Amino acid sequence: MGIIKGIKGVKDILPEETPRWHVIEDAARRWASCYGYQEIRIPIFELTALFARSIGATTDIVEKEMYTFPDRDGTSLTLRPEGTAGTVRAFIEHNRAADPLPQKFFYLGPMFRHERPQAGRLRQFHQFGAESFGTSDSRADVEVIALLWHLLSSLSLPDLTLEINSLGSSGDRAAYKPILFAFLSGQASRLCANCRRRMETNPLRVLDCKVPDCRAATESAPRLIDHLSPEARIHFDQVLAGLVSIGIPYRLNHRLVRGLDYYCLTSFEITSNHLGAQNAVGAGGRYDGLVEALGGPSVPAVGFALGLERVSLMLPQALLPSAREGLYYVAAFGENGAKLGLVLLDELRRAGISAQCDYRAITLKAHLRQADRLKCRFAILLGDDEAARGSVILRDLDSKAQEVYPLAGLSSVLKSRTCSS
Ligand code: ATP
Ligand code: MG
Repeated sequence: MGIIKGIKGVKDILPEETPRWHVIEDAARRWASCYGYQEIRIPIFELTALFARSIGATTDIVEKEMYTFPDRDGTSLTLRPEGTAGTVRAFIEHNRAADPLPQKFFYLGPMFRHERPQAGRLRQFHQFGAESFGTSDSRADVEVIALLWHLLSSLSLPDLTLEINSLGSSGDRAAYKPILFAFLSGQASRLCANCRRRMETNPLRVLDCKVPDCRAATESAPRLIDHLSPEARIHFDQVLAGLVSIGIPYRLNHRLVRGLDYYCLTSFEITSNHLGAQNAVGAGGRYDGLVEALGGPSVPAVGFALGLERVSLMLPQALLPSAREGLYYVAAFGENGAKLGLVLLDELRRAGISAQCDYRAITLKAHLRQADRLKCRFAILLGDDEAARGSVILRDLDSKAQEVYPLAGLSSVLKSRTCSS
């Protein structure tokens, strides 16, 4: 019988890689809390209808990327492809709008999309997302962008660009759609089959098609930004001015669209050209109509989602914690040494000191080889002679310098050493 392998596009994150994930996740939590966003943990799966209604039937996600399956009673369920839908559902279901607004949430966890796996594009991937409910003021837009930008900058990710656009109000888009449609009709022969179809149902989506021919064909398309109502224009100008005031550089990108009625006004994406084809690290925008569209009250909202695999691909090595500083190896050998070693290990660990031992090692030499492999800074030698004397030898594995310490009370001595070093 062959071995059973993991699923294509679904990766294990091995112990060598978890330190970089911790760096990213810790930074995300720190920045979120600094901006007043509280963690929400939403379910991994939901009713399919939630995603179909919130993300929109004509999007790539709903059209072809969702993991959808019938429950035992036939109810259609879907593994979450993103976090906004679940957050909004929870917001409505728990009647959060009855409590004082604004309310700000963040989430962190796996998402699932059936895509063609490649570097930075997986079927199970992880997102950190933030959602701010209750503020239509442009400063809330600036706030979520700043949170994302400062988080990524604090991780020293290279070559970040903030691209931004305004989708206007739903009225602005309704007026713009026939103008765009007329333009696209003239270019139809140059568009991919998918875009020719979407052109009818949701022409805005054609603008962010990634097929090079489609991009070329829509290069001179009329711009939504030139068709904004005065209110939408003012909101956009305020967001841009806010970004300038806090020193966040941006680039206008008229292709940045989300073809859904719930998305409005600000739409943004942060890209890096270090990522190749999958160049978007995070994306977000305002979705003032979504809470209401999902059956809740009218509550404005703005947020983003960040792809953590893509962050991990770009994270500089220098940000990773240095290897195991302060880790002790207990080299306990001989009959009595081994017995006292077990007690010492327990004592050290209970004092919060990281300590290792390979119980298979019988000789000092074998122990020291393991200590080396584990990259420990110090070894505590405890053989039968030391056991008889009630002492241990502390060996610095870099300098090879040795010191003798009493066995009793060793954990508090080491604890104060670790704190002062
Ligand atoms: P893309 O254009 O790359 O498909 P998207 O527009 O589908 O991205 P969003 O739904 O806005 O992406 O999700 C926000 C972020 O989540 C993306 O910018 C990206 O970093 C990450 N992301 C999306 N899909 C995947 C995936 N399949 N694998 C890894 N990361 C992903
Ligand atoms: Mg996608």
